[in-house]
Amino acid sequence: TDFPASPTVILTGAASPRGIGRASAHYLAERGWNIGIIDLDADAAKRVAEEIATEHGVQAAGAGADVSDEAQVRAAFDELEGQLPQLVALVNLAGISSPVPYLEVTADEWNRVLDINLSGVHYATRRAVESMVKNGVGRVVSMSSVSAQRGGGTYSKTPYSAAKAGIIGFSRSVARELGLAGITVNVVAPGPIDTDIMGGTLTEERKEKMAADGVLPRIGTPRDIAAAIAYLISEDAGYVTGQTLNVNGGLYMQ
Ligand code: NAD
Repeated sequence: TDFPASPTVILTGAASPRGIGRASAHYLAERGWNIGIIDLDADAAKRVAEEIATEHGVQAAGAGADVSDEAQVRAAFDELEGQLPQLVALVNLAGISSPVPYLEVTADEWNRVLDINLSGVHYATRRAVESMVKNGVGRVVSMSSVSAQRGGGTYSKTPYSAAKAGIIGFSRSVARELGLAGITVNVVAPGPIDTDIMGGTLTEERKEKMAADGVLPRIGTPRDIAAAIAYLISEDAGYVTGQTLNVNGGLYMQ
């Protein structure tokens, strides 16, 4: 398969200042990837792209889209692909948490979480692989969560766990269908990572408690996840597909 000398990766959900996505975009740009960013807020996405282009000397562009809206997702891809070199990789990071106890989950909450966290992954993946099949090479990586494997127990609960488990089945199935087209499809399942997704509830005490549950004496950093993503989208990971890479400090072993 022909991995181009100057590949582009598009990341969804990479505009939040302390998130896994922004850290991953920097990590990948340092390793030569051109960067496309899709996030809810177009201005924030463009700001992060600008900061990446300036810091790392790669090409970068940002676009706004709600990943739960297929037309917006497709328009954002058109915009980014028009400005950047060959799209080789997609990283699905856009997601929301849902700490609502099961007996209080409304239909609206259920649909909101599944629409963003699972349908959003499908819309972006579907659009990205349409380009990748034309080039005969592609890499897709999506964020699941230890919450899918352990039955919540982190911050997010039922709809979140269901969506994150859905990503694993989705990815294996797309992997099987598109292997012949030169596309690999994998999942990263993070344990608790120090970002703002838990809405300020990640206190020092809570971090210690979460860490004590695993094998390693700390919670994770965005860089821990960025490194896993970098491996899975690399040219050298071309024989790895349909897999879930657990980056969780030993909180769950598979
Ligand atoms: P974060 O809140 O910092 O980042 C999420 C990003 O997604 C934000 O930039 C946000 O604007 C964007 N986003 C939210 N809804 C969107 C929508 N509808 N359309 C487009 N963009 C949208 O959180 P994070 O911790 O960096 O999480 C990144 C991913 O990793 C998420 O999928 C999350 O579920 C997953 N994850 C996080 C942890 C953790 O402990 N932080 C653990 C496991 C999995």
